[in-house]
Amino acid sequence: EDSCSIMVAVRVRPFSQRELSDSNTRCVVSMLNNETTVRSDNGSVHQFAYDFSFWSHDQGSGDFCDQALVYSRLAQPLLGKAFEGYNTCLFAYGQTGSGKSYCIMGHGAETGIIPRFCEELFARADTLASKNKVKVNVEISFFEIYNEKIHDLLAGSKEKGAKKATLKVREHPVLGPYVEGLSTYVVNSFVDVEGWITLGNKNRATAATGMNDKSSRSHSVFTIVLTQTKTESIEGQEHDHSVNSKINLVDLAGSERQSLANTSGERLREGANINKSLLTLGKVISLLSERSVTKKRKIFIPYRDSVLTWLLKESLGGNSKTAMIATVSPASQHVEETLSTLRYAQQARSIVNVVRINEDPKA
Ligand code: ADP
Ligand code: MG
Repeated sequence: EDSCSIMVAVRVRPFSQRELSDSNTRCVVSMLNNETTVRSDNGSVHQFAYDFSFWSHDQGSGDFCDQALVYSRLAQPLLGKAFEGYNTCLFAYGQTGSGKSYCIMGHGAETGIIPRFCEELFARADTLASKNKVKVNVEISFFEIYNEKIHDLLAGSKEKGAKKATLKVREHPVLGPYVEGLSTYVVNSFVDVEGWITLGNKNRATAATGMNDKSSRSHSVFTIVLTQTKTESIEGQEHDHSVNSKINLVDLAGSERQSLANTSGERLREGANINKSLLTLGKVISLLSERSVTKKRKIFIPYRDSVLTWLLKESLGGNSKTAMIATVSPASQHVEETLSTLRYAQQARSIVNVVRINEDPKA
């Protein structure tokens, strides 16, 4: 067993068209090394230090961080840990429009973390198979949590058109919480995985049309289960030794506070529920951080209060190497949301996870 803190990064995006067309827009965020500074309109200066501060505001600058760099600094180390047999998790947190999906998924040639991670995973798996005679099994699933309900984003095509069933969280006595009835697929190549990613993204997008900006209110979770098996010969007898890792890549719902003004009926209920998962995540993070700081082991963590935290239980304060990317807008109009995201990220940084390699038989 080994303890390690949650790795936290912040990334600032370019101005959006809307921000550019507003003559009052100023850039309030600056970064130097791992420090992020925010200067609000009233002149106050706020400084934060993280593991990484990713400057993606203006492509011309020397310290510009593109998708490849963000991947290699933040996600690639997790891939290495996954192959060692640790559970890993990465989640993106920030207000709607700040760049969470751009980081996690990306688009066009600017591919994000999930496709890059999968591509490298298969490259490494192929090498292990040919050089070290290790059998590598990769299983994926992809779902979203909306309104505290779970929707399978890769459900069989037969069910297309039919109203999508909602799935429930169950708790396995040994393996912990899981989504009951979720489709999981064994994938053999990056091309296979790409197909599933495209389908999942399409299902996420289709579900969003007609709803009130549904995608900004849902959390999506892409899960990979990586199992490496090697047959070893001990005193002339063949034994299988396997190491496995569960990887969760999470695109969270927009962190902005839901305004209760002009919200009614269905909207209100949705808002309240979305708040429930994000609010509980906030509570869990804050209690875990308190537990790490005060070393009070007895502090109760209300994981089961929301679907999201229940499913991410191991990733938060449990057996997982976990990283968080907090995304912010550079614009003065969003300074309050930016500060709230940065404070949240600050708190996450003090969480300490206790990790161990998952192996069978145990060493
Ligand atoms: P979120 O998922 O947080 O709501 P998106 O990832 O959809 O936000 O980003 C909003 C818009 O800003 C998209 O058009 C996206 O392509 C663009 N964007 C976000 N981050 C970046 C970045 N680092 N570089 C270039 N464009 C970005
Ligand atoms: Mg998004």
